[in-house]
Amino acid sequence: MPESSTERDIPPGMITGPDGKPCQACTSWRLWKPVIMTQEQSHNKSYTTAASGAATTLAASSASASREIPPTNCPPDSEELGHATWTFLHTTAAYYPVQPTPTQRANMLTLLHSLPVLYPCTHCADDFGEDIKVNAPDVSGRAGLSRWLCERHNQVNRKLGKEIFDCAKTDERWKDGPAD
Ligand code: FAD
Repeated sequence: MPESSTERDIPPGMITGPDGKPCQACTSWRLWKPVIMTQEQSHNKSYTTAASGAATTLAASSASASREIPPTNCPPDSEELGHATWTFLHTTAAYYPVQPTPTQRANMLTLLHSLPVLYPCTHCADDFGEDIKVNAPDVSGRAGLSRWLCERHNQVNRKLGKEIFDCAKTDERWKDGPAD
């Protein structure tokens, strides 16, 4: 059976979104092999990758061509998006009130329950949604929220084979910095 044009346009390693199109925010740049430029192409030129339904043109320098991470002006891949999102969530938890008002608790719950619906890496969002159905958010105060979030992050770390973070160190990592 002939491939559809969408299947033909999906680069190896690229994960597709719910619309069946390539989803850069769902895919790690390391696993998705974009078009490799020759040295001649990289000189004063641009190259294209099929990063979306319409090919995305990336202004590329010879320095960025050999990098394993996206150039800084590139849309985020799943790792950059994940790192930035965890930074936001853990930092927000570290500064969340010790004794939040009912309104602050409600807003935090809305934020956390929005992630499975809105987070652009859809398979990440789906798994996170399943996790928080079983492990309801603790928005009672700073300490509880920081620990809950640390445990959720560790759940993802476990799934990805990453190191488990010591949840006793969340304040040091996200608020106070290391003791001198
Ligand atoms: P990150 O995991 O992004 O961590 C950033 C920093 O946080 C680390 O350097 C460390 O200092 C600190 N840290 C690590 N663990 C903890 C912890 N438990 N508590 C507090 N601080 C910690 N990627 C996938 O491939 N598949 C998925 O299903 C997936 N699901 C995700 C779900 C959510 C809600 C989010 C926000 C991201 C998800 N990601 C997923 C992305 C993934 O978790 C990483 O963000 C990404 O792989 C980049 O990893 P990193 O090595 O930069 O460190």
